[in-house]
Amino acid sequence: MWEFYMPTDVFFGDHILSKRGPVMKILGKRALIVTGRTSSKKNGSLDDLTDLLEKLDISYVVFDEVEENPSFASVERAAERFRDEDFDLVVGLGGGSPMDFAKAISVLLKEKDLNVEDLYDSEKIRRWLPVVEIPTTAGTGSEVTPYSVLTDQEGNKRGCRLMFPVYAFLDPRYTYSMPEDLVLSTGVDALSHAVEGFLSRRATPPSDALALEAMKIIHKYLPKAMGGDEKARRKMLIASCLAGMVIAQTSTTLAHAMGYPLTTEKGIKHGRATGMVLPFVMNVMREEIPDRVDEVNRIFGKSLLNFLKDLGLYQRVEVSQEELERWSEKASRAKHVSNTPGTFTKEKILMIYREALSV
Ligand code: NAP
Ligand code: FE
Repeated sequence: MWEFYMPTDVFFGDHILSKRGPVMKILGKRALIVTGRTSSKKNGSLDDLTDLLEKLDISYVVFDEVEENPSFASVERAAERFRDEDFDLVVGLGGGSPMDFAKAISVLLKEKDLNVEDLYDSEKIRRWLPVVEIPTTAGTGSEVTPYSVLTDQEGNKRGCRLMFPVYAFLDPRYTYSMPEDLVLSTGVDALSHAVEGFLSRRATPPSDALALEAMKIIHKYLPKAMGGDEKARRKMLIASCLAGMVIAQTSTTLAHAMGYPLTTEKGIKHGRATGMVLPFVMNVMREEIPDRVDEVNRIFGKSLLNFLKDLGLYQRVEVSQEELERWSEKASRAKHVSNTPGTFTKEKILMIYREALSV
């Protein structure tokens, strides 16, 4: 038994906003644009978007204060700031951080007595403003997933399931300005989504088809994309979108949950943090699904670990025994465990961290 649901209308191509953006007209007359501090001003995407909205006679306010790994507090503050304004739609522009922020605030601006914690109670998520997403990194796939990942007051990254975006506009030109290290970390996030989705207990025939294609594209093009090749960057934007469609069905596995503290406590970018532990999580998954794990390794040219090492993914991180114990305890209780094939005790998780941090 399986289900496949992907209601987001996806548009891809150079200058896609000016070509197909006018479909946004039906969403209303006033937009809140949610973006990061600088990159969307530099790569031309914010100008493209505001030009389009002006042509469509949609008025807008730009909120450009989204930080990496957005916190509960900043979503709450923005919701407070815009509470008395009437918007018809929210546009998330940038990497996963602004796209996730856009989903969260679209609920809070519609249901004005909810707070951020309520976003984690699915019963309370009934209404929201329509969301449009425009990615400028090739990694999270947030433009086609219903998820928003926010960091709570205790510093934990927590994902909630909100809504699928109505439209996603993918213009590969916006990704050309990414520095090499960001291409690597976001590309490995997409890679992890494809691999984890393929290995998840919730994998389905259509999600497998998307995951296999995404893995092949990433194996072939991520190294060239890091070198700045524009064709390769276009391919990576396609792959990250396909991989987003995968996790929209399967959600992520323990590798994501284990990467979170490396990001929140050690400042390692999300994709890099996840990718560092993934090959070692796969070794334990082998207990239950050896053939699938072998297939992933084959796609990446014999071994995923070697592929990631050759890209320069692994970096030195100082961690204490106390941190390892605490992270392992937390990961062993994460909801991701139930999707992840294999038996993951706290001791095994601790061993995975040790292996990943000593490459
Ligand atoms: P990000 O946190 O959105 O952005 C990282 C950095 O990249 C920022 O400094 C940003 O600058 C910059 N940047 C963005 N686009 C750029 C471009 N085209 N050129 C140069 N710099 C650019 O990075 P991300 O990896 O895309 O997103 C990570 C977040 O997404 C995490 O919070 C993660 O948990 C979440 N996530 C969500 C999902 C989901 O399904 N919803 C899945 C995986 C991950 P500015 O701040 O100036 O824009
Ligand atoms: Fe991710």
